[in-house]
Amino acid sequence: MAEKKLPFTKEQLEEIIKEYPTPFHIYDEAAIRSNARRLLAAFSWAPEYKEYFAVKATPNPSILKILREEGIGADCSSLPELLLSEMAGITGENIIFSSNDTPAAEFQAAKKIGAIINLDDISHIEYLEKHAGLPDIVSFRYNPGPLMQSGNTIIGYPEEAKYGFTKAQIFEGYRILKEKGVKRFGIHTMVISNELNPDCFIGTANMMFDLIVEIKQQLGINMEFVNFGGGIGIPYKPEQEAVDLEYVGQGIKKLYEEKIVANGLHPLRICMECGRMITGPYGYLVSKVLHKKETYKNYVGLDACMANLMRPALYGSYHHITVVGKENLPLDHVYDVTGSLCENNDKFAIDRALPVIDIGDTVVIHDTGAHGFAMGFNYNGKLRSAELLLQPNGEVKMIRRAETVADYFATLELPKEN
Ligand SMILES: *Cc1c(COP(=O)(O)O)cnc(C)c1O
Repeated sequence: MAEKKLPFTKEQLEEIIKEYPTPFHIYDEAAIRSNARRLLAAFSWAPEYKEYFAVKATPNPSILKILREEGIGADCSSLPELLLSEMAGITGENIIFSSNDTPAAEFQAAKKIGAIINLDDISHIEYLEKHAGLPDIVSFRYNPGPLMQSGNTIIGYPEEAKYGFTKAQIFEGYRILKEKGVKRFGIHTMVISNELNPDCFIGTANMMFDLIVEIKQQLGINMEFVNFGGGIGIPYKPEQEAVDLEYVGQGIKKLYEEKIVANGLHPLRICMECGRMITGPYGYLVSKVLHKKETYKNYVGLDACMANLMRPALYGSYHHITVVGKENLPLDHVYDVTGSLCENNDKFAIDRALPVIDIGDTVVIHDTGAHGFAMGFNYNGKLRSAELLLQPNGEVKMIRRAETVADYFATLELPKEN
């Protein structure tokens, strides 16, 4: 069971709202830090372990800096993400540039910064060489294709994904790199997303360790690192269970000894680039009830909308909702909780059992710390909210102001008077 508690009391939240009008996202720094430590501890057995936070999940330098202080790097896939990482003091090989369909200028920027470049396709070897030159270290993203199973665990449907090299291309790619004088090699994969079954991650490690052994046997290449990508899920629903990181760590350790150590491939750096599990559960979208509406259904209209959190509208995802101060009331009302877009998808919850809701109530939507604010957009002239940081000492700091109408107009070329 995942407990859906708030990191502040009703009174504390009311004080915060006095200073920062709703809606806003607020992130719990202490919880982010202790979760990061839990992840690193689960892999403390490894000769070296590196987590590169997927910047796209929460692209805010204040968050990236907190993670950097915990020893976490950055996983970027665009120029702005590279720049955000640098702003947070994450530099050089603490950045992995794991992009696809990449423009030349972004490869050039990644090379200049000294980021580890992870190529998505065999044709990008030539493209990278032509536009930026080959760096000392190159990594490839592997797509295992159909029917890859590890034990009884099917790990996603990689053949439907646009990403990565086929197995034949992986071997050909490393052969080409070797021929071109590249000396340091990494390998990457990401075949699952928002997965809660811990055995899937152990299955991915099993597949990759086998591949690394095969590459050694066929090409004589000693891999410097393996990157298992992101994809560790979080318990959005109260009845779900968080991934047992310790279990995953120990499962991978056993395979490391059986496959990597036994084949003389130790030391191999173990890397991941999780986003969701690093910040997701530690962010909250705070909103006020503007309207109630009773037609064919009962609606509660918030001052937030899908511009602040797309996941329910985009994927039908569940996000838990707490009506602040009514935590102990019975869930004896059923509401659709909506935003204000002229778009019927704009609902945070459909047919949700909740306590009685009144206009002016504060509603907190849980698990918005990753892929929340970041996915926001300006459709219907909706402006993005502020992001706040709840610091370990209880003080709140604004780490991004809310957009204004002027921001929305900033890129316009206004028509001349006629
Ligand atoms: C999105 C993404 C991640 C992070 O995924 P999470 O589900 O947030 O862990 C990591 N690596 C790549 C290449 C991605 O595209």
